[in-house]
Amino acid sequence: METERSRTEVATADILIWQTGYRLALAVLTGIVTIALRVSGSLPLSPVADVALGRDQVDWMLAAVTALYAGLVLGIRAFMRRTRRADRTLSTLMVAADLTVVFWLVFLLAQPDDYYFGLFLAFVSLQLTHVYFGRSPALLMLAATAVSYLLLNDIAEGYGSPVSWGRVLVTLSIFSTGALLLTRVQSNLQGRLATLVSMFRKAEEGDFSESYDVAADERPDAITSVGRAYNRMRTQLASIVLTDPLSGCYNRRGFEQQFRRELARAVRANTDVALLAIDLDHFKVVNDTHGHLVGDRVITEVGELLRANARTDDVVARTGGEEFMILAPSTSMDGAQHLALRIVEAFRRRAFVEPSPRVMLTVSIGVVADAVPNDDIAEDLRARADEALYAAKRSGRNRVVLWSRGLDTLKLGRSGPK
Ligand code: GH3
Ligand code: MG
Ligand code: MG
Repeated sequence: METERSRTEVATADILIWQTGYRLALAVLTGIVTIALRVSGSLPLSPVADVALGRDQVDWMLAAVTALYAGLVLGIRAFMRRTRRADRTLSTLMVAADLTVVFWLVFLLAQPDDYYFGLFLAFVSLQLTHVYFGRSPALLMLAATAVSYLLLNDIAEGYGSPVSWGRVLVTLSIFSTGALLLTRVQSNLQGRLATLVSMFRKAEEGDFSESYDVAADERPDAITSVGRAYNRMRTQLASIVLTDPLSGCYNRRGFEQQFRRELARAVRANTDVALLAIDLDHFKVVNDTHGHLVGDRVITEVGELLRANARTDDVVARTGGEEFMILAPSTSMDGAQHLALRIVEAFRRRAFVEPSPRVMLTVSIGVVADAVPNDDIAEDLRARADEALYAAKRSGRNRVVLWSRGLDTLKLGRSGPK
């Protein structure tokens, strides 16, 4: 979750940086136009502001607010460029500044009857906030807008301007209902988009376990279509990314993924996991004698043979050129030994690439089985299976060696012919 959060913070910083350009332009333009209109006398002051602040103060205040806002925006941009991340406080501060400026301008320039104009501007800002920063800041902004609008009317009344509260409340209700409705639609869109993004992220890592729930979309739209397209691709993608085309078994990536999943399951269910490291004996000779094409054909048939001997729950993978692994969930050392011996026996009785050249092959298998207290055991299990396989090779090949403590002290040696 930490990475998800920092991803959001980096994205928020990027958004704030590019938005500052628009904010500055808008602030400067509004400032210049308003002040120019005021100086030329064609933009009368709001009577409330006139009484509350005094005519002479207002133009200064307009300039000061524009400068303050521009300063804040520039400050935030400089800060963002340095840190490259923004938490919620910063985006909220930015949005709060937008809202303050909007209502300040409305207060200075609009007739009390036209205060609803502030709601329109806030509405646009609200939508943009939701699109770029998410639902919570948008809802916060909605509440702040409602309070500001009521406050503005209250101030107007305080300075002697008659306020029709009935009208104010009706306007506010219409605004809030519309805003909430749009927020809901927007949330729904964003939620489903986020689901898709997370599915694609997982797919990037080779995890195709999730599919898009098309049936849950009551009113199908463009996002539903993308979800449907992903579902269609999913199975094909999974097979391309996770399986080895030559042997038809899982490839290394597929194995890693299944291994992690099975270990997690074994931790939860408190069961053993067995691992078989399998290596074809003297496979180089097959290539040297019959050529690579026959060698390839043999690997394909070995893949089939291993899968035929494993159970459906077992994960059979080609982890190297002529090296395979079988992960057997919920399997003790006894069960794993049975499986390994069955495989050695199957090779003994099998001739590959029939009718010719009828290659005879043997295999060496290292076996380990253990309880899984936590996922950290993965590397350990693999190392032990390899160690047992190495012992099988060193002690003459065509055999099964079960890993046990002290196996490495059996003086099998680490040098000499393979
Ligand atoms: P060992 O009993 O010690 O395992 O002997 P080995 O000959 O099987 O082992 P080594 O590691 O010396 O050689 C492995 C051979 O497997 C060499 C390589 O050409 C062959 N090989 C690996 N991948 C493929 C493949 O995809 N196709 C073919 N045809 N041969 C392969
Ligand atoms: Mg070999
Ligand atoms: Mg090998």
